[in-house]
Amino acid sequence: MILVVAEQREGKLNRASWEAIAAAQHAGGPVKIAVLGSAVDAVASELAAAEAAEVIVVDAPALEQYTSDGHVMTLAALIAEEQPSQVFLPHTYQTRDFAPALAARLQRALITDVTALKAPRGAMVFVRPVFQGKMSAEVTAEGPSPHFVTCQIGAFRADAAKRGSAPASVRKAAIDVDASKIRQKPEAPFKEAKQAVDLSQAERIVAVGRGIKAQEHLEVAEQLAQALGAEIAASRPICDAGWLPMDRQIGSSGQTVAPKLYLALGISGAIQHLVGMKGARTIVAINKDPEAPIFEIADYGIEGDLFEVVPALIAELKK
Ligand SMILES: Cc1cc2nc3c(=O)[nH]c(=O)nc-3n(C[C@H](O)[C@H](O)[C@H](O)COP(=O)(O)OP(=O)(O)OC[C@H]3O[C@@H](n4cnc5c(N)ncnc54)[C@H](O)[C@@H]3O)c2cc1C
Repeated sequence: MILVVAEQREGKLNRASWEAIAAAQHAGGPVKIAVLGSAVDAVASELAAAEAAEVIVVDAPALEQYTSDGHVMTLAALIAEEQPSQVFLPHTYQTRDFAPALAARLQRALITDVTALKAPRGAMVFVRPVFQGKMSAEVTAEGPSPHFVTCQIGAFRADAAKRGSAPASVRKAAIDVDASKIRQKPEAPFKEAKQAVDLSQAERIVAVGRGIKAQEHLEVAEQLAQALGAEIAASRPICDAGWLPMDRQIGSSGQTVAPKLYLALGISGAIQHLVGMKGARTIVAINKDPEAPIFEIADYGIEGDLFEVVPALIAELKK
């Protein structure tokens, strides 16, 4: 059995949880989904739509706000009870915070940032990026189960998660969460910087690259983003230049995103950029160089000058 640890904050499910569910279902065998928190019934019912053996809720006041200790303690107890062969998690900031501690506590293997599963019905082989995404490694886990696997955002499609013909049963696990053992005092939840945006949750993204040429030209991209109801993002040189804050950077040293629509304006498509956005459902690239590598992964390519194409798109969207 694979146990998927779903993530919620203030009763709102992180949609990357569905990606981890899709990955676990793809791996084969029964899947259970765990969700931790306080008053998370609505999240549990949402998760019950998945084709899963059951949804397990650990509901405790001490889990109302996320803490690493709370998660490690609770999941260690739940895993001892459920004895899964694998534990799948979305590779979110929160997972990155507690999963290494949990794996270390249980002395089990942890494979992070997994992008694909191979031979899913034989011995499980996990594909993960190495060297800043320049290469992919195929790894297997050693040692006793369960093995912990974190799924790269956007690598597995949330809409590929199978839904059950009837809602899965929801069960409350009787796990005592001892608040006195939690050493952290949570402050405001993860944000990399003031006003940081979590682009991994964005449905539409307009990303700009060096083709935009000057900071004052960002306005045209912002207008397009506004017309589309999209977030603005960028390739690394734009953030390095300080034209946009670092939390808007997409790529191996920035954020990994999986929006429904990713519009790349004047971005060449370097591998370090592609690893951060290739999971987007639909990629539209505007570039004046027909040989730009971005066109290799784009669903729609517009060969042209962005300063002509973008205003035309905005005019069309405003009609
Ligand atoms: C360790 C490491 C980590 C890195 N991490 C990241 C990362 O996280 N994210 C990231 O993005 N990069 C990262 N990079 C940098 C990466 O290698 C590229 O240099 C970078 O992505 C290039 O950005 P760009 O596409 O905006 O610029 P360029 O490669 O210069 O491309 C600009 C593109 O704009 C097009 N263009 C120019 N004018 C116009 C116009 N008027 N209309 C339309 N198109 C036009 C050009 O044809 C060109 O294709 C990293 C590099 C290293 C070494």
